[in-house]
Amino acid sequence: MNPSSGETQRLRRADQAHLWHPFTPMGEWAAADPVVVASGEREFLIDTDGNRYIDGVSSLWCNLHGHRRREIDEAIRRQLDRIAHSTLLGSASPPSIELAERLVAMAPKGLTRVFYSDSGATAVEIALKMAFQYWRQCPRPQPAKTRFVSLMLGYHGDTLGAASVGGIDLFHGLHRPLLFEAIHAPAPYCYRCSLGVRPGDCGMACAARLEEILKTRGHEVAAVILEPLVQGAGGMIVHPAGYLRRVAQACRAHGVLLICDEVATGFGRTGRMFACEHEDVGPDLLCLAKGISGGYLPLAATLATEEIYGAFLGDYAEYRTFFHGHTYTGNALACAAGIASLDIFRHERVLDRVGELAEMLGRCLAPLAEMPHVGQVRQRGLMVGIELVADRRTRQAYPAAERRGWKVCLAARRYGVWIRPLGDVVVLMPPYCISEASVARLVEAVQESIAEVTQR
Ligand SMILES: *Cc1c(COP(=O)(O)O)cnc(C)c1O
Repeated sequence: MNPSSGETQRLRRADQAHLWHPFTPMGEWAAADPVVVASGEREFLIDTDGNRYIDGVSSLWCNLHGHRRREIDEAIRRQLDRIAHSTLLGSASPPSIELAERLVAMAPKGLTRVFYSDSGATAVEIALKMAFQYWRQCPRPQPAKTRFVSLMLGYHGDTLGAASVGGIDLFHGLHRPLLFEAIHAPAPYCYRCSLGVRPGDCGMACAARLEEILKTRGHEVAAVILEPLVQGAGGMIVHPAGYLRRVAQACRAHGVLLICDEVATGFGRTGRMFACEHEDVGPDLLCLAKGISGGYLPLAATLATEEIYGAFLGDYAEYRTFFHGHTYTGNALACAAGIASLDIFRHERVLDRVGELAEMLGRCLAPLAEMPHVGQVRQRGLMVGIELVADRRTRQAYPAAERRGWKVCLAARRYGVWIRPLGDVVVLMPPYCISEASVARLVEAVQESIAEVTQR
């Protein structure tokens, strides 16, 4: 580790004086000696003192092909020589058109329309409002369908609508009085089943609960929203196989729309382009963000079926329009980055590479599952959660105030690894360009750090 230079110390002081960081207890930020990232290269972050760190969580789950990918850099520069931004409110632009065409061609069947915005939270807000408005304007309107069903421990972003369908009390509890009331179904979290049944011989009781909700209250439900296959922010909760398909079937059976939030799982993370593909599910609305621009620029999209889109057509005076938009909707630089990212998928067989890396990562992680304070190692593709526990036998958690997960990530820094936990779940989500040597180093650093923080 290089020592902090005077310039780094000056930057840290200025940061502490003026910045307010997201999801960050600012009272102790001064003591955290934050890494000040000056540049990046492939899977590495390089700080202002020249230290290199493996970017173990892809810059908060969004980087796909590494930092400073030549093809994406050049696509943005080429677009910059034309125009950086023009509005989609009343005009069109080549990059937004071309990316929409490409997204529709690769998305699950039936999704034909692309509504752009700029973050995962806005993509979710838009899906919720579309679903709500659809039931008022569809050929046989059902205006009583105003409610949303979502999962406990679900996460869909931090704006008020997205938080309303969120199920993480620490994040969403305080603001409940400002939120609309969603109907929460149990999370398919087998390690800590809230229904108290034994996974494997429970007949997927959590899915049955959701089916029951739709059976009894379907007439007032506009849509079910969930993160397919893996609930990310809830703790990398990997769903049992078949859960998503059962939910999709129940939605169909009871006339309820299905919104899949693939903000985290989309664009190859789980080994397929979209997680829904694993279970042959075609949602009515699909939310995309994070990886959509390769992790370069803020961009998001909500994809809808032709049937939903059709409900918004009509004479102007009928006011069926979707009155929603954001200033930077469909930003040209971000869309150019998105197109370049999809070109890399096409030219470099990226999904095959994700599969190989996931297998290797799984092999490296196997010894961690045996550590005395690791309760469970969960993995789907290149999404990993390592749940730390005080007691393996009883699955007793550590007192939250001990911040073991955070301490593990802090320790990992000394091994040249930058990661960020979810409570006591240590998260690994490397970019797809990571070398095999870096995968091995990443896991070794995490193993050492866990040992340090839980055994010594
Ligand atoms: C990160 C995330 C969001 C929110 O995305 P932002 O761009 O941070 O608003 C929504 N849904 C899921 C599943 C996410 O992981």
